[in-house]
Amino acid sequence: MDYQAVLEEVAAYARPFVGRGHVADYIPALAEVSPDRFGIAVADINGEVYGTGDWQVPFSVQSISKAFSLALVMAGSHGDDDIWQRVGREPSGTPFNSLVQLEWENGIPRNPFINAGALVVTDRLLTMTGDASTSMLEFLQAESGNTELAFDQAVAGSEADHGDRNAALAHFMASFGNLENPVPSVIEHYFWQCSIEMSCRDLAVAGGFLARHGLRADGSRLLEAREAKRINAVMLTCGTYDAAGEFAYRVGLPAKSGVGGGIVAVVPGRCTLCVWSPGLDARGNSVAGMAALDQFTTLTGWSIF
Ligand code: GLU
Repeated sequence: MDYQAVLEEVAAYARPFVGRGHVADYIPALAEVSPDRFGIAVADINGEVYGTGDWQVPFSVQSISKAFSLALVMAGSHGDDDIWQRVGREPSGTPFNSLVQLEWENGIPRNPFINAGALVVTDRLLTMTGDASTSMLEFLQAESGNTELAFDQAVAGSEADHGDRNAALAHFMASFGNLENPVPSVIEHYFWQCSIEMSCRDLAVAGGFLARHGLRADGSRLLEAREAKRINAVMLTCGTYDAAGEFAYRVGLPAKSGVGGGIVAVVPGRCTLCVWSPGLDARGNSVAGMAALDQFTTLTGWSIF
């Protein structure tokens, strides 16, 4: 596969979509990002990486961090699946920050990729490590090979300033006994995780273990193959907000998106991709990013379907 040629063709296809949609504006630090950015990178399972456009420009990973926190919790649980007693694995059918579903289901979030579910996963990671956000940052530095990766303090601070909804979700779950740590610690670590800045290159390389059936960049095992399979399955069914059906229809790959405009997608056994363009559709997914991944699986035939 000539990855570079495919990426150039994908980028040309996606170009008319760049700038469409709306840049996330719930915090100032995200609203300031230019909508004209577009980058895409692919890392094959041997760690070779290719990219085009703004593929080396860092952006706010936001909800893409949710896939990594789930992986770290599963990796640290040594086959003990009890996180699934505290969070479900079904698509939510409600917005990513919805409170209503929690009341119907006794404080158990529908899946780990809506905010409530990610707060539970962060809570578990906090119990396991004592410092959920630093352990994630160190993992991402090691996997991407980029020791410069860092939190964006302005983004983390803004998230906290505008964090009433996430605090409400956390308090509500705590009222059902579904948090192990104090609410302020859990939401603080969640915000720091969301604030990590990474490029398409960094994310494609760091997500390589999902394409390698659980093997880390250094060849050691992070996850059992069946655990990697399960994370990919939850990404497929729940990873792109309320548009997982549309994403499967158009792209057909496990993926996790974030409101920073990034989407990480996995072709199991072959490669991990990351695309970034900040303009979001009504469901919160990058418009040009969706178009690019649609074209990628059309050109390669690598939709899992
Ligand atoms: N930090 C964001 C929030 O919790 C994440 C948004 C996202 O990417 O979905 O509201």
